[in-house]
Amino acid sequence: MKQKGLKRNNNVSDELTGIQFYYLVHGHCLLDGDSAFKSDTEAKAAYFEHKDALFAKQAQKEHDWDNPTFQDGSRPWSWWKWDPECPAEQRKQIAGNPVIPITTELSHGVPAKYQIQGEFSDIKFETEFDYLKRHNLLFDGELERVKEERTCSKCGKFDFDNITVNLEGIVICHNCRVGL
Ligand SMILES: [Zn+2]
Repeated sequence: MKQKGLKRNNNVSDELTGIQFYYLVHGHCLLDGDSAFKSDTEAKAAYFEHKDALFAKQAQKEHDWDNPTFQDGSRPWSWWKWDPECPAEQRKQIAGNPVIPITTELSHGVPAKYQIQGEFSDIKFETEFDYLKRHNLLFDGELERVKEERTCSKCGKFDFDNITVNLEGIVICHNCRVGL
């Protein structure tokens, strides 16, 4: 994508509203009833117009409520949906009974809706991080950043999904957090 439409400070908030930005990252609005774009076509066009800024913002970690961005080791919902760079292959299922999709639509590389009750409650897909790594799509330095951001400071275990940063800014896995 050409850079010429991009402003020097990469500030897209004066072009996209916070709600629109949030929608491109998550595929839904924060509040029920909010609507981000008039149509799918408009949302898609907005993605391609603002993709460079969206990714630049991520690299600069300029996350805030008006300009939400995505996490290292993941990609925005709109990237999964529209970007030609995103492989056609879905994320691999790594646990549970074979998934039964309720819709043909995908979200972040997995069925947007599928059975999760009872015998289907153990379904797990590879993480976005593993998928991106497998397809050689991580940015320069992203692997190292993810390792740092997702390795528990208490037990030293790397876990992409079950880890959080607590209020003191300490990276901790869910197991160790429960033990505190
Ligand atoms: Zn831990």
